[in-house]
Amino acid sequence: MTSRFAQRLTGGMIIAAGAALAVFLVDGRIDGAAITLVGAIAVLLAAIGTREDGPAPPPAEDADGSILVREVLDAIVEPVLLVRAGTVTFGNGAARALLGSHIVGEDVRVAIRHPAAADRLASSVPASDRPVELVGLGSPDQRWEMRTGDTSDGARIVHLIDQTGNYAAERMRVDFVANASHELRTPLASILGFIETLTDEAGEDPAVRTRFLKVMFDEARRMQRLVEDLISLSRIEAEKYRLPAEIVDLAVLIADVRAELLDVAGDRARDIAATIDPGVHGIVGDRAQLSQMLHNLIGNAMKYGRGGTPVTIRLAADRPNTIRLSIADESEGIAPEHIPRLTERFYRVDAGRSRSLGGTGLGLAIVKHIAERHRGRLDIASRVGVGTTVSVTLPAAEAVSSKGNADVTQARA
Ligand code: ADP
Repeated sequence: MTSRFAQRLTGGMIIAAGAALAVFLVDGRIDGAAITLVGAIAVLLAAIGTREDGPAPPPAEDADGSILVREVLDAIVEPVLLVRAGTVTFGNGAARALLGSHIVGEDVRVAIRHPAAADRLASSVPASDRPVELVGLGSPDQRWEMRTGDTSDGARIVHLIDQTGNYAAERMRVDFVANASHELRTPLASILGFIETLTDEAGEDPAVRTRFLKVMFDEARRMQRLVEDLISLSRIEAEKYRLPAEIVDLAVLIADVRAELLDVAGDRARDIAATIDPGVHGIVGDRAQLSQMLHNLIGNAMKYGRGGTPVTIRLAADRPNTIRLSIADESEGIAPEHIPRLTERFYRVDAGRSRSLGGTGLGLAIVKHIAERHRGRLDIASRVGVGTTVSVTLPAAEAVSSKGNADVTQARA
């Protein structure tokens, strides 16, 4: 294809030749025509050389791509390096933050300083697709996946992908399955053992049979509670991003839960006292989940609080548009090192005590998920030898509806 430059040059040459011919015909002198021709060509070349019709040229390229390419690489949140002949020629912002700002110009094995990375980067054969796992780069518990690729002009691109979060999530999943299986296997083994004993001669003795059946019943109930809590947890997690839409009056709900506990928890439920701030209105919530939250928190205060001491529920306005629900007990309290871990699934301060009191180790994990679904926050404060206060702060109904939640407006109408 003829370039624009060649087209303009050819057109100009024809005009210059035409001008020279005209001078020759008018003047009849060959030297005048020659001077005209040379002059016209000179003017033409100068004009073509200085005029630019197209867009400005791209910035000059350096060893590894234009400024634009560098800007694109800098915008990538994960570390990316360009390497030529084993030397780092460019590192984006994330790479400099992870490995240091001095990496450009360094041998890439020195820049990354990880044995697994060094093996892959030392090889001159084209990079394979297989990623390399780098553990401990940056900080001891960080995990990276290193991928490399070769460019057509012989540079190597090194891309580091942070897998720390994924790895932690996978480890949590594996631990959860292992813990849940263990928690279910223990009562199941106990039930099977008692069935075996009852089918032997022990089953003949009515007193022994009654005692064994009671143990089997308790163990089966324990499995049932665990399965129910596991189902609750997965349901709440599945609904995590779906905002609740009912208006729930927490004062009414507290009274309902208290009445239910008086029916099932006997004397200890009489220790429950509730103080409700009259200025507090409803919240936008899921009634069944909020009831479960109250059952779990009041249940814990009754279980771990000293018998006969009060379990105090308070409902009060907190910061603007926020309601604080707190449940306080009097007990030996919880040592500070345990507090950050109490919402982990199956974490217990004293597993034996929790089991003997009917605990599953999932109650506070469920509460935390319910609070998060309601855009609330869970706080646990405890003083050893004094007691524990668990608080949940939740947005008041007005705060949620004023943000334009159509369902809420409908529910309030
Ligand atoms: P559990 O079913 O074991 O009660 P939770 O998830 O509800 O499980 O609580 C986790 C652990 O936190 C409990 O095993 C217990 O050690 C501790 N805990 C929770 N609430 C209280 C409380 N009010 N007082 C003292 N310890 C508590």
